[in-house]
Formats: sequence, structure tokens, C-alpha cells
Amino acid sequence: MSPKSLIVIGAGPGGYAAALEAAQRGLAVTLIDAQEMGGTCLNRGCIPSKFFLAHAKPAAEAFTPIVQLVHEKDTVLATLRQRMEQAAKSASVRRITGTAALVSAQEVEVTTAQGKERLKADAIVLATGSSPIVPASFPRHPAVFTSDTIFAIDYLPAHLVVVGGGYIGCELACAFQGLGSKVTLIEKEKSLLATQPEFLAAAPVLQRSFEKRGMTVWTGTEVKTVVPADSKKLLVTCSNDEPIEANALLFALGRRPNVQGLGLEAAGVVLQNGRIQINELMQTSVPSASFSAYRGQGSGNGHPASPGRNSRGNELRLHSPLYLCATGSRGHRLIGSAGAVSGTQDAHRPLPLCRQLQSPDRR
Ligand SMILES: Cc1cc2nc3c(=O)[nH]c(=O)nc-3n(C[C@H](O)[C@H](O)[C@H](O)COP(=O)(O)OP(=O)(O)OC[C@H]3O[C@@H](n4cnc5c(N)ncnc54)[C@H](O)[C@@H]3O)c2cc1C
Repeated sequence: MSPKSLIVIGAGPGGYAAALEAAQRGLAVTLIDAQEMGGTCLNRGCIPSKFFLAHAKPAAEAFTPIVQLVHEKDTVLATLRQRMEQAAKSASVRRITGTAALVSAQEVEVTTAQGKERLKADAIVLATGSSPIVPASFPRHPAVFTSDTIFAIDYLPAHLVVVGGGYIGCELACAFQGLGSKVTLIEKEKSLLATQPEFLAAAPVLQRSFEKRGMTVWTGTEVKTVVPADSKKLLVTCSNDEPIEANALLFALGRRPNVQGLGLEAAGVVLQNGRIQINELMQTSVPSASFSAYRGQGSGNGHPASPGRNSRGNELRLHSPLYLCATGSRGHRLIGSAGAVSGTQDAHRPLPLCRQLQSPDRR
């Protein structure tokens, strides 16, 4: 029997798309997120990083202070969030701001500013995304950032050290170099983008182009220690024995699934290597709890490629290409079949909010 009601946990591109799609198909939908609408992508990921990339050079040429750039970015994000909230409202999606945990396979407890509420639904979509990995051995310090915090930075670091040469590290290294920071990009593997084999041939070309534009790139190098000297100075030592004095350090070491405190055990959802185990229909081991197959959670880090299954067989990996993550035909099929509901993406349809980003202000 098809579900009539749906709870979606997580209002990032996965959960949001699933919620709207399900509402359009007549389900009574509740969309829960502990933070703001839009998830990592809109608030701490794709959109701010593309904003920084696009505006870095013009901002540097116009001597725009970074706080102003951050403010302009915040204005764009607020507009996009507002449009998403409005679209959810128009689709009669009930929106709750709070932290959700499964109580059973069809029941969720939400903790909001007002207190706790229990909700029931025929189906549940888990779209809780992922968070940046920060090794516990490195200090918590105002000059140490992750992608969750760097987009709110209030000073332009004279020297930024980026640890991790994946796509997030590469993008942010470029953005800050464009803004005028000296940038050292450090990657422990032998090449940049090492976790994405599809970029094996492109990685050395990328590295050369970074070096040509004045960036220092150390591959095959590991950061050993990060010692705070003052509030905006860090002493960094690496396996190549070249000490660095940095004014900010960005950890871009990959992401881990947000599964802690989600009550997965209570609902009987099985994890595999710390990730939610799913079948080809993105259903978890419990039929009513489906999983939003954004790579943010499905495989922990991120990015372009084509849909496929990994070598472990039962984790579906849909990779989101730049700016492409609207619910597509696969989502339709899932919603239409077997009572499974899931947010997913279509590699050929642009994400509407990204299209909107291209028009305003400075472009
Ligand atoms: C710097 C950066 C740049 C990126 N650039 C791109 C790009 O160009 N193209 C691209 O395709 N991808 C990009 N990504 C990846 C993209 O952001 C993620 O793939 C995408 O956001 C994943 O969407 P999601 O809906 O699965 O999860 P998320 O966007 O992470 O949303 C999950 C939501 O769940 C909420 N949540 C978690 N736990 C709970 C709970 N217990 N209760 C309530 N709410 C909860 C969180 O608050 C969050 O809002 C980038 C990521 C970063 C960090």
C-alpha cells in the first residue's frame, strides 16, 4: 500500500526535494530540520563556495572587505532560503525546526525550542546529510576552520593553509587565493582529488594550474602539528619538515554521515561501516525508513560522477554534479513504487535555487 503520510528528516537538497515531490503527489508531509532550510548545500556548501569563487577576484580588485562579501553572501542565502520556505508552504508541507530522532520505524520525536513533540507517519525519509571531519588531535581555535565555519570568516588571512586536496579544499583554496590570501594546499595522498579516481588524469593538470597562479601545493605531505601562537597565528609542521606560519587553517578532510543521535537502533535501521545500509530502492533495512541518496551521506564525501553501485554492492551512490540536484525521474519511480519514498537527483536537471543564484547583483 502506498504511504499517505511522510516525515522527512533533513531539509537539505535531498530532503527538501523529497518533501516537495511527495507533497505534490498528495502525501501529508512534515519536513524537519534542526537548522535552516537548504542544508549544507545552501548554507555551508555548494552555494556559498560558488559565491566566494565567483566573487573573489572582483572583490579583491575592488578592495571589498571580506566582511562585506560575507554579508552579501548571507543576503543571497537568506533570499534563497525564504523562497524555499515559501515553496514548501505553498505545497502544504509542514515545516518544523527541531532535532529529530526515530522512536520506532514509524514514529519520530522532535525537540524544538518549545519542547518535545511525537509524530507518526506511514513512511520516513532520512536525509540528514553529513558533517566535516576534524581530527580530535588538532586544536579547537578561532583560526582553525572547516567548511561549516569558513564562510562566516571576519578577516582575510594573509596566509591560509588548506589541509585536504579534495574538491572542497581545492575550491576554497582557489577562492581565498582569488581574494588575495597566500595559500598553501596540503594533501597527504600523492595527488589532488585522490578520492575521485575519475579525476586521476586531471589532477596533475589542476595542480600545475594552481602552482602557476601562485599557490603552494604539497602532495604526499601530512600535517603533523598545529600549534596556536596567538588568536590569528598558527605554527604548522608537516612531514616534509618545512614549518609554516599561518593566519588561518582550513580542514577539508572529508565528511562523515550524520547518524549519531538519530535513534536508528530504536527503529532497527542497520548501519554498515557507519553508513545507513540501503537497497536499490534506497530503502533501509526497515521498510518504512528510506534514505536520501545524496553522496553527502551515502558515501561520506561528495561529488560528480554517474549513478552506480559500489563494490560493496548495496550502497547506491548517486553523485551530485555541480549545480545539479533536483528530484528527477528516479525519484518519481521510487515514489510510485513499493511505498518507498526518497529524495534523489537527476543529473540532467539544474537545481532551481542555483539558477536563481546566477542572476542577482554582481553578475
Ligand atoms: C564547501 C562545499 C561545496 C560543495 N559543492 C557542491 C557542488 O558544487 N555540487 C554538489 O552537488 N554538491 C556540493 N557539495 C555537497 C553538497 O552540499 C551535499 O552533497 C548536499 O548538501 C547533501 O544534501 P543532503 O540533503 O543529503 O544533506 P545536507 O545538505 O547536509 O542536509 C542535511 C540536513 O539535515 C539536518 N539534520 C541532520 N540531522 C538532523 C536531525 N537529527 N534532526 C533534524 N535535522 C537534522 C541538517 O541540519 C541539515 O540541514 C558541497 C559541499 C561542501 C561542504
